[in-house]
Amino acid sequence: MTEKNNTNSYTPVIGLEIHVQLKTKSKMFCDSPNNPDETVPNTNICEVCTAQPGTLPVANKEAIRLGTLLGLALNCKIANSSKFDRKSYFYPDLPKGYQISQYDKPIAEHGYLDINVDGVVKRIRIRRAHLEEDAGKNIHPEGLGYSLVDYNRAGTPLMEIVTEPDITSAKEARIFLEELRNIVRYIGAGSADMEKGTMRLEPNISVRKPGQQELPNYKVEVKNINSFKFAEAAIEYEIQRHIEMLSEGQTPKQVTMGWNEKASQTVEQRSKEEANDYRYFPDPDLPVLKLSEEYISNLKTSLPELPAAKRQRFKEEYALPDEDIQNLVNWKELTEYFEEVVSEIQAWIQADRSKEDLLKLVKMAANWCLQDFSALLNAAKINPSESRITQENFAELLKHIADAKISVTAAKQVFAKMFEHGGEPDHIIEDLGLSQISDTAAIESAVDQVIKANEKAVLDYKAGQQKSFGFLVGMAMKELKGKGNPSLVNEILKKRLE
Ligand code: ADP
Ligand code: MG
Repeated sequence: MTEKNNTNSYTPVIGLEIHVQLKTKSKMFCDSPNNPDETVPNTNICEVCTAQPGTLPVANKEAIRLGTLLGLALNCKIANSSKFDRKSYFYPDLPKGYQISQYDKPIAEHGYLDINVDGVVKRIRIRRAHLEEDAGKNIHPEGLGYSLVDYNRAGTPLMEIVTEPDITSAKEARIFLEELRNIVRYIGAGSADMEKGTMRLEPNISVRKPGQQELPNYKVEVKNINSFKFAEAAIEYEIQRHIEMLSEGQTPKQVTMGWNEKASQTVEQRSKEEANDYRYFPDPDLPVLKLSEEYISNLKTSLPELPAAKRQRFKEEYALPDEDIQNLVNWKELTEYFEEVVSEIQAWIQADRSKEDLLKLVKMAANWCLQDFSALLNAAKINPSESRITQENFAELLKHIADAKISVTAAKQVFAKMFEHGGEPDHIIEDLGLSQISDTAAIESAVDQVIKANEKAVLDYKAGQQKSFGFLVGMAMKELKGKGNPSLVNEILKKRLE
């Protein structure tokens, strides 16, 4: 299938190659720890991942499980029989002189991922996804005159995901990446963190000329992209560069570019003409990877609710705005927390309240999760599960706001205290003396006093000056030391003035 180009403009063609590091205890083919946060170089290594003579690889069962899960989540056909191949090239961070990868028989093929582009669902086909091992890292300390190698990462498990060239804008590429990141996190396959390098992107880019139907006969690959923002910027930069060249009758060279963060542009790294000949052949040290139908179908049933299904459910059950849903679902741990708060609300709201009340509270829960809670979590650099606010107390506080026991302003104060020290909202409200006055008699007496003391304002209001009403509300609130329930104060004042 080639995308029909029925416009008379330049149309970008983009295919992505993405490496996702799998979160296993040990490496792909040995029992050295797989720890992306290790800071001491060359500690998580052994004879196998540093390629000592006579050592043999053994495939990691958990990596195979996670890879299969990811393939299934991407709607791929999982191969009952796949194999590992040697991809040979020479580089100091690759101790064996070859990388163990999968060439012509990958573990997963022919999948797709549906993405939502401004409300329109677009299907991006996944050509293949295969298991492989990562290389180490070369380090070039400034001014030393020599380089160092850290093999901690050598042999850690990766899934490489390759899409068909179905993507037609930088924005679509970013949406695809974000959705993939979400999926990897939801199924527990990895942290998929571009900044930390546990998810790495190499986009391939070309541009069709107006009216051109077939795929362009060139493509440019971009490396060194380490954030979603740079992914979008790098692709956009390339698209514009190609359009400029094509409109001058030139064809961009088939090269590998690198994203230069400081200059906000891509720079040529090497030309594809000198591309390596990898001399792939089956790794004789590893058996064919056989997965039974039962194994595959068990994993398929074990898949959790994926982001797209969750978004759909949030829309149907909670009627939340799309943007809230998107923002919640993009943070897996926050979504889990939110759902626990909602179930607390549901348990408490029971039958005596309407569906409307429930939805109002759920919307409130979403707002508090996305605003105050997110801000505090981000400032403290922690995840929701690490916060001192229990889901029960979170729900309790929302209930007090809904029941007008405290004002929203006061609730923010209580929330901050809860975040800092934990504790129940009732106690904190009492300690801080924040509970809101909803006692009608108390409000009436305050209102009466204010009316008596402000004759002129009362007359002005009766003469039609709305401003005076606001003034009288302010005075009544002052009388109530700021704790009057605002809607009650308004209501009672209006009645008394009639
Ligand atoms: P190669 O053999 O050079 O690695 P592949 O055919 O394996 O190329 O494709 C690698 C990636 O490039 C895939 O993600 C694919 O979708 C993408 N791709 C293929 N052709 C184009 C093109 N004309 N423009 C942009 N991306 C492309
Ligand atoms: Mg390729």
